[in-house]
Amino acid sequence: MFIVSIDPDECSGCNTCADGCPAHLLKFNGEKTEVAGEETDCMGCESCVTVCPTGAVSINEM
Ligand code: SF4
Ligand code: SF4
Repeated sequence: MFIVSIDPDECSGCNTCADGCPAHLLKFNGEKTEVAGEETDCMGCESCVTVCPTGAVSINEM
């Protein structure tokens, strides 16, 4: 099981991560992008980690 989290202090709100998320878990809230679904629905593909320019996204495997 994978758990995704976004550090709001590091997120610039570019929303690039959300565009590529196959689980549609990441949503722009008007200022920043946040985990808007069940964080455990993350498939662990790490697409969001790869595209994030600020290193704000982290994936943890349980
Ligand atoms: S690792 Fe993949 S499935 Fe999980 S939040 Fe990132 S893009 Fe979505
Ligand atoms: S790619 Fe990184 S900086 Fe851009 S919205 Fe996602 S978490 Fe924030």
